[in-house]
Amino acid sequence: MSVGAPPVWRNVWLAAALGLASAWACADSPLCRLGLRQSPVDIVAPVKQTLPALEFRYLTAPLKIANDGHTARVRFSNAGDLRIGNETFTLQQFHFHTPGGDRLAGEEFPMAAHLLHKSRTGHLLALVVLFRQGAENLALAALWPKLPPRSDGDHLIAGASVDASRLLPASRAYYRYEGSLTASPCTENVTWLVMKQPLELSADQLLFWRARFADNIRSPQPLHDRIVQENG
Ligand SMILES: [Zn+2]
Repeated sequence: MSVGAPPVWRNVWLAAALGLASAWACADSPLCRLGLRQSPVDIVAPVKQTLPALEFRYLTAPLKIANDGHTARVRFSNAGDLRIGNETFTLQQFHFHTPGGDRLAGEEFPMAAHLLHKSRTGHLLALVVLFRQGAENLALAALWPKLPPRSDGDHLIAGASVDASRLLPASRAYYRYEGSLTASPCTENVTWLVMKQPLELSADQLLFWRARFADNIRSPQPLHDRIVQENG
């Protein structure tokens, strides 16, 4: 970076170096404001269609978890895949958002898990699991004590493993729409699958998270001319 860079770019660069989300906002890609296929959305009038079944082939994997200052992220190198029709998407990582981002007929959920997948050709697929406040969630009960307290990179937790299928609801029914990354550069051409059946987490589990992380998802974005598909 040259010394003569305008102050705004110096700030952006500093923000990038420090990983500060608020300062990142001034570097938002134009796609974040102008894109027509942005995520999350409010799913108000889904259209029933025959969609392929979700075939989860997740594997138990060593627990590698990072606190990046905005969320906790579990990364995988070999945790299986999700098969949809004749397409295969490898599970890359999952992380959490408060509130849930995607809404169902206006209902906002206090939390969501985003499970990110990638196909062999590089196509991204985000699978969303929404949480309502209710009973304690056993998968989160196993995970929360392992959250690194500081933003200091990946932690491979000795002796701990994680099975992402424990974050899936019993029902495999889902909504599907074409969306985007939810933070800059807001890249589009990301397939979004939102599981219809929310999971539950307890008030204490939500408080535990909120004591560590600020809200970290943007508001629902306009659908424009997109159709949300619904299976079943
Ligand atoms: Zn996310």
